[in-house]
Amino acid sequence: MAYFITEECISCGACEAECPVEAISAGDERYVIDADTCIDCGSCASVCPVEAPQPK
Ligand code: SF4
Ligand code: SF4
Repeated sequence: MAYFITEECISCGACEAECPVEAISAGDERYVIDADTCIDCGSCASVCPVEAPQPK
């Protein structure tokens, strides 16, 4: 299981600093989560202003 970031992302960057395993990085059109690194903690979803990170 891993979270993924939907197209709702406004690239604010808030989630990147919250991820304990540094699975989040800025992509071309939105921030992206490395599914192999994500430990499914939900921290990114709790800080996102637009609820873009969603559990798969
Ligand atoms: Fe990082 Fe947790 Fe979000 Fe996965 S769910 S990307 S581990 S903050
Ligand atoms: Fe995108 Fe939400 Fe992360 Fe901001 S906190 S970069 S809107 S996913």
